[in-house]
Amino acid sequence: MSLTIAPGEIVGLVGESGSGKSLTAAAIGGLVPYPGVVRAEALRLCGTDIADMSPKELGTSLAMVFQDPMASLNPALRVGGQLAEVAIVHQNASRADAHRRAVDRLGHVHIPEPERRARQHPHELSGGMRQRAVIAMGLMGTPRLIIADEPTTALDVTVQRQILTLLREVPAETGAATLFISHDIAVVGELCDRVVVMYAGRVVEELPVKHLAEGAAHPYTRALVASVPDMDTDRSLPLAGIPGRPPTPAEFTDGCAFAARCPLATDRCADNPPLVDHDGPAHRVACWEAK
Ligand code: SF4
Repeated sequence: MSLTIAPGEIVGLVGESGSGKSLTAAAIGGLVPYPGVVRAEALRLCGTDIADMSPKELGTSLAMVFQDPMASLNPALRVGGQLAEVAIVHQNASRADAHRRAVDRLGHVHIPEPERRARQHPHELSGGMRQRAVIAMGLMGTPRLIIADEPTTALDVTVQRQILTLLREVPAETGAATLFISHDIAVVGELCDRVVVMYAGRVVEELPVKHLAEGAAHPYTRALVASVPDMDTDRSLPLAGIPGRPPTPAEFTDGCAFAARCPLATDRCADNPPLVDHDGPAHRVACWEAK
């Protein structure tokens, strides 16, 4: 796959489970577990090859937010101490300065009484506060890229909205590029500037979010959009879905991976379609039948 995110831009990466979204995030962040190997012609952050960046540089330039904040926080340590560690390890800050910055960052992500919260352990915070604390941890440095992998999936709807607002505020303030990964195309449509749709490990469509509802050209993207219920959806009918399931890597062929589920498939789809410009370079599609 090929992906570029501009400073301050929020790009949504969508697709069903197993499409390769989280693996892409892990590959960028160097978190693919052994024996996985990441190969890229170019993997650059602000013009520097990520492979050439020291752990300190990468630790302050790249922030990652996961679905479960407890996966990022140590349950045995106080929240403030965990945030302060970022500044102590990556920025050589003194313990006192690091702690002051941790409290400041917790307040910055709208955690009330940040000094008291900094002294607490993760289990004493609500799920939404824990997720904000993880975002605050990312803001201990000066992130140039924020990767948020399903950051709101485990939260209730009200808290979800607060975290989305925060994820909008942070790039606007810091100029950080943001990759927002979600299976929820409705949330992506609200938050992001651009959408990249993945299927079976490949990008199948990339388009500005303002064209998502009416201008999507790939049958898979259109099916994802059509499967989002709204207030007018007839509740007496079954919800719209995409029949079948995505192929596993063992089932990949030389043809279009969506062919078995695609209503527009033809003999031509036995060859994999390339990702090409569609209505200009901002909109790219991999489909022989894209109109
Ligand atoms: S290339 Fe063919 S099978 Fe694949 S999405 Fe387009 S029409 Fe459907």
